[in-house]
Amino acid sequence: MSYFLKFSITEQGKQLEIAVRTICVKESINILLLTLKDWRGTSVKKSNYNFFYEYADDSNKLIAYNSRTNALAMIEKNDYVKYESFDDNNVSIDDNNVSIDDRLVNDLKRGGFLVEDSINELKLLRYNMLSNRHSSQTFALTIAPTLDCDFACVYCYEEGKKHGYMLKEVQEAIVKSIENQTKFVEGVNITWHGGEPLLALDIIENITKQVLQICEKNDMKYSAGIITNGYNLTKNNVLKLKELKIGYLQITLDGTEKIHNSRRPLRNGGPTFEKILNNIQVCKELLPRVSLRVNVDKENQEDMIRVLDVIREFDIQDIVTVYPGYVEPTNSCYSKNNCLEYSDFAKLEYKFHNALLDEKLVSNITYKYPYLRSNVCGADNASSFVVDPKGNLCKCWSDIGRDEYSINNLLDFKSTNTNVLLDYMLYDPTMDEECRECSVLPLCMGGCPRRRIDKIVDRCSAYKYVLEDYIQQIADQKQVENKSHACSCC
Ligand code: SF4
Ligand code: SF4
Repeated sequence: MSYFLKFSITEQGKQLEIAVRTICVKESINILLLTLKDWRGTSVKKSNYNFFYEYADDSNKLIAYNSRTNALAMIEKNDYVKYESFDDNNVSIDDNNVSIDDRLVNDLKRGGFLVEDSINELKLLRYNMLSNRHSSQTFALTIAPTLDCDFACVYCYEEGKKHGYMLKEVQEAIVKSIENQTKFVEGVNITWHGGEPLLALDIIENITKQVLQICEKNDMKYSAGIITNGYNLTKNNVLKLKELKIGYLQITLDGTEKIHNSRRPLRNGGPTFEKILNNIQVCKELLPRVSLRVNVDKENQEDMIRVLDVIREFDIQDIVTVYPGYVEPTNSCYSKNNCLEYSDFAKLEYKFHNALLDEKLVSNITYKYPYLRSNVCGADNASSFVVDPKGNLCKCWSDIGRDEYSINNLLDFKSTNTNVLLDYMLYDPTMDEECRECSVLPLCMGGCPRRRIDKIVDRCSAYKYVLEDYIQQIADQKQVENKSHACSCC
C-alpha cells in the first residue's frame, strides 16, 4: 500500500512514513496511538469511513481514502481482496486469521482503514467536536458596523431591516468584551460584515485601533478580513484597510456584466459591475488576496463559468481566488424556487473548479483535498460571535439584524433567546439518526447549523455528492507528482 500524503514518526527505532493528512493535533495523536500498538493480540475491524475507488490508469490498483483520518493511498487489488475477505461476515481479525499479513494490517492501520475493535469511531469524532467547539485559542467576532447598504441585491437576507449605524456605546462594549478575553485566548479575529461595511469605515477604524493596542499590550495575535460589495474600494479606502491590518477581502461578482447588474444593482438601480472590477484592477498592487465569490442559483448557473473570462479581461487573475457560493432563501428573502438543490450546486462547483484548472487559473486540484471538520463554522464554536449595530449578539451571519435569533445584547446582557444559543451549541451529529450512519460525517459534521435550526433537510456537505470525483482526480495528480519525483536509482 503506498500513501500519498506523508509525515514521519519513529516506531521501534525505524523511520516510518505515515500517510495521514490531519487538521488537528489531537487527531494525529489518535492515529499514532492506533498505529503504534501491535495488532497481534488485539482484534481490529474495518473503519466505517473507508472508500475504495477504481483507479483508471492501473487496473491492478485501487484508490483508498478514509474520511476520518483523511488518509489517501493506493492499494494493490490483491491486498484489497485480502482486506475485503477477512471480515465479510463481521468477523474480527485476530491471531488465528491467516488471510491477512502483518505488513498489510499495519499499513491499513496507519491510515485508519483498520481500527482496533474496542475503538468507537463515533466517540472519537464526538471527542474532537466537543474539544474544538469549546477551544478558546481565538476569539472570533463578525461585526456589522452598519446594516446600511448601497446595493439592492435580489437575494439580500437583510432586506427590510433598518439601516442604522453602530452607536459609540456598542463600539466601546465590543472593545471591552475583547479586553475581557485577554486572559483566555491567544488571538483575536475580526470579520467586518454588513450591510456594506465600507460605508462605516470610521467605525471600523475606531474599533480596530483600540483592539490593536489591546493585542499589542497582551502579546496576542490579530487578524481581520472584510466582506464588501467592492463598490467603494477606492485607493484611499484600500490604503486605510491596509493600515487597519485587514488581511483578506471577499467581494461578490454574480456573472458577466448584464447578469451581475441585474442581480446586484445600486439601490437606485444603477450598474455596479464595471466599477467593482475597475476598483480591483486599479488597486491590485495594494490589495491583499481577494476572494471573488460568484453567488449561484438557477438564474445565473449558465453564466457562472464566464466569470473566468471577465477575470482575464480585467487582468486580475493574479490577485483573486474565485469560487462559487450557494444562494439560499435565508430569512425567506428569496424564492426557494430560484435556489439550486445542494446536490446540483455541488456538481456545478466541481465543474467550476475543473474550469479553473482548464483555464490554468489554478495549477492542480489538490487545493480541493477534503479537510476534516470538528465544528462546522463559527455558529457552533463557543468563542465565536456576530455583533450587529445595536449590540445584539448572535451566532450566524444570517442572523444579523434578526432579533429573534439574537442571543444577548452587549449593552445590557439581558439574555434573550438562550434556547437559540443552546440549539446552535448542543447539537451533536454523532447522535443524529442519519448523520451517525453517514460515511462523510467527519467532513461535514451535520451541515450548516442555521439550516438545521430552520429545519432545512438539504444541508449535506458537497462531498456527499462529489467525493469520488475529487479523490480520483487528486490521486491522479499525486501519482503524476510521485512519478516525476522518482529518481532512476530507487
Ligand atoms: S450557520 Fe450556516 S449560514 Fe451561518 S455561518 Fe454557519 S454555515 Fe454559514
Ligand atoms: S448533514 Fe448529510 S452529509 Fe452531513 S453528516 Fe449529516 S447526512 Fe452526512
